Amino acid sequence: MENSEYIREILRLKKEKNAVILAHNYQRPEIQDIADFVGDSLGLSIEAGKTKADIIIFCGVDFMAETAKILNPDKKVLIPEKAMCPMAMMLSPEEILTAKKKFKSQNPAVVLYVNTHASCKALSDYACTSANAVRILNSITNDTIIFGPDANLADYAKKHTNKNIITIPEFGNCPTHHQISVNDIKEAKTQHPNAKFIAHPECTREVLEIANFVGSTEQMLKFVKSSDNGEFIVGTEIGIIYRLRKENPNKKFYPASNTAICPNMKMTTLESVYNALKFEKYEINLDKEIMDKARKSIERMIAIV
Ligand code: SF4
Repeated sequence: MENSEYIREILRLKKEKNAVILAHNYQRPEIQDIADFVGDSLGLSIEAGKTKADIIIFCGVDFMAETAKILNPDKKVLIPEKAMCPMAMMLSPEEILTAKKKFKSQNPAVVLYVNTHASCKALSDYACTSANAVRILNSITNDTIIFGPDANLADYAKKHTNKNIITIPEFGNCPTHHQISVNDIKEAKTQHPNAKFIAHPECTREVLEIANFVGSTEQMLKFVKSSDNGEFIVGTEIGIIYRLRKENPNKKFYPASNTAICPNMKMTTLESVYNALKFEKYEINLDKEIMDKARKSIERMIAIV
């Protein structure tokens, strides 16, 4: 089928099945265009909770669709592709239990980035996002915090808190952000000397140190809108540039690195969204006990922010 036919069928099936389509900021432009909501993972899951739809099509990676299911247990949540997040895969429940045991005498709280699987979230006290990690850490009374799986986000958060942060695993990271280098930024700045450099906290410390602004994708969107500057070098997955350009047609955006592409985020196509709607696949099914425990850590985070 042609893309226009897929779009027509997707809109028809969406209405027929009372479905809502959510797309992460890193999805392909054509997926962002057919979505009802485009945003970051948690924002989308919260948005999903407000809809009256029976089916949620989550265009993103596994942990995001899981979060949508945890927050909307009575709805059918479908992920069009079995797309996994490599960073979420770097942390296992066993590693969390080992760390809890090892540091028990320090009475640690466990704070996990939302980029984790439900089985890990179920063992945590609080979830956090890249937008609120520092706020969550500083709101907790425990002095010692076990934090995972992103060592770069942990490193960034450490600069803004006096807490003793134990990172698990020691070198967890998002490969897409971790590969953006200082030389990439220097090169981009040479080509665009008037551009401000905005970076995601999943980037390395060296890259964040030369950024004009550090924030989550939604925080980047707000920063760009309120900035008087007309040009920006964007230090995150390049999918966000489509939305940045769409919402700021008079401003210019350049990727910090042309290789900052998450292949897992790009797996979802119009064809897979169509198949998800038509055949109602792939459904997210999680154990009720795990969902109930994981929901508590997300709700504690939401209560703080
Ligand atoms: S961009 Fe990084 S954190 Fe996001 S899904 Fe891809 S690998 Fe995971």
